[in-house]
Amino acid sequence: MLTDTYRHKGLRKRLVEEVRAKGIRNEDVLASLEAVPRHFFLDSSFVEIAYEDKPFPIGSGQTISQPYTVAFQTELLEVKKGLKVLEIGTGSGYQAAILAQMGVRVYTIERHRSLYTRARQLLEAMNCPAKLFYGDGYKGLPAFAPFDRILVTAAAPAIPEALIQQLKTGGMLVIPVGGGGTQIMTRIIKHGDENLEEQRFGQFRFVPMLGNKE
Ligand code: SAH
Repeated sequence: MLTDTYRHKGLRKRLVEEVRAKGIRNEDVLASLEAVPRHFFLDSSFVEIAYEDKPFPIGSGQTISQPYTVAFQTELLEVKKGLKVLEIGTGSGYQAAILAQMGVRVYTIERHRSLYTRARQLLEAMNCPAKLFYGDGYKGLPAFAPFDRILVTAAAPAIPEALIQQLKTGGMLVIPVGGGGTQIMTRIIKHGDENLEEQRFGQFRFVPMLGNKE
C-alpha cells in the first residue's frame, strides 16, 4: 500500500535540508526530492531508513542511490520541463520518478528483469509517466533517440559511444566513469558531432554497469 503520511513528509523535509547543507542549490531538484516519497521504493518497513542520506539494497545485488547523489546528478543534468531524458539503470525507479516530477519526459532502461518489473508496477501505481524499458543500456534507446539529456546511474568503465550518438547537439551526458571502486562524475556537453566538452566533478561510488552477457 502506498501511503504517505505527515510523518513521512516531515522526514523528507529534514532530508532535503541535509542535502541542501551538503551543497545542492537547485531549488527545482530540492522540491522534487521533497515531493517524491522515497519509502515507496524500499522494501524496508523502517521508514526512517528511507530518509537517511544513504544508498540501500533493492535486490539483485543493486542499490537505490544515495539521495545526495541523485540530487547531484540531477543538478548536473540541468533539466527543464519538457526535455527528453534517457536514464540508464532504472533500479528502484526513484531517480526516474524524481526526473518525471520535474516535468521532463523520462525514458529509462534496466537490465535486470526483476527490477524492471518491480519499478514498472510501482511507477504505474504512482501514476508516474516515465517510460520503462528492459534491455542493455550500453546500446541506449536508438528507436527514441535523440535525447536532450542522458543520465547513467551505474559505473561505466568508459563512455559508451552509442550514448554520445543518441545525444542532441547541445545535449548533455552525466556519467560516473571508472572501472575500479570509485568513479569520477563526468559531464559531457555535445557542442557538435566532433566537438565534445568533458567536465569532471569529483569522486562517487556506484554499482558497475554490466553488459547483457555478464
Ligand atoms: N537509478 C537507480 C539506481 C540504480 S543502481 C535508482 O534510482 O534506484 C544501477 C542500476 O543499473 C542497477 O539497477 C543495475 O541493474 C542497472 N544496470 C547495470 N548495467 C546496466 C546496463 N548495461 N543497462 C541497463 N541497466 C544497467
